[in-house]
Amino acid sequence: MEYPLSRARHGYAYRASGGTGFFAAEALDQKGGVRHGFSTRLGGVSPAPYDSLNLGWTRPDPPENVAENFEIFCGAAGVAHGDMVIVNYEHGGTVLKVTAEDRGRGFEKPPLPFCDGLVTNEKNVVLVTSHADCGAFFMYDPVKGAVGLAHAGWKGTLARIGARAVELMQREFGSEAGDLIVSTGPSICKSCFEVDLELAERFADEFKTNALFTRGRPGKAQLDLELAAAIQMLEAGVKEENLTLMHACTSELGRYFFSHRRDKGDTGSMAAYIGLI
Ligand SMILES: [Zn+2]
Repeated sequence: MEYPLSRARHGYAYRASGGTGFFAAEALDQKGGVRHGFSTRLGGVSPAPYDSLNLGWTRPDPPENVAENFEIFCGAAGVAHGDMVIVNYEHGGTVLKVTAEDRGRGFEKPPLPFCDGLVTNEKNVVLVTSHADCGAFFMYDPVKGAVGLAHAGWKGTLARIGARAVELMQREFGSEAGDLIVSTGPSICKSCFEVDLELAERFADEFKTNALFTRGRPGKAQLDLELAAAIQMLEAGVKEENLTLMHACTSELGRYFFSHRRDKGDTGSMAAYIGLI
């Protein structure tokens, strides 16, 4: 495989909307038939350190704040509140197919079983994931009419959750990997993500390249999760020219993002969404 993935698209589009804003992939916006985005911390009602558009129910921020923030999120995204289905993440590799019957799960209805990825081929079902440094996979099949979304921290990335979502789309919807338009989301970058060297070496073994990490302090390394995300999508059959890597670091872009690592765990959550139009 050639680095640095010269045929992939690099970078993000920023869409200001209703006092907040979203990071997005131009390739998905240009294709049509799908809406998607990755939320920012701007324009919500939560106080510090959850200021202000905290979309995480598990933070020590009153649920009425989070509920109001989701109203703001939906208005800005142009999404009907009752259409959303949110993952019930455990940093694992489980991907579930959801349908219109699942709308409201994790909101007005009880949560889904534990899962970090969702796929659907139904319109008016909006997939939602939750993030505070963890990466995202946005997936769209314009041929069969299906979408996928996954939450991927280091565990999910190592478990190839992106590739598993592709497999589920192939199995459930007859999707061809070569037709998929895929983007990563914002996530913590290699320069900001220090891990134990042992973990970095597990990534190098799994994805068969030492390009994934740089040695740092003794016993430590800087790990490139977005590159691991790219490799697994290419190995799953996604075409490099259909892949976007946003290169938006949640730790560095503090004006826009909460960051679990930077804020030492005391912070809010962003949300990603995707749905067929
Ligand atoms: Zn960074």
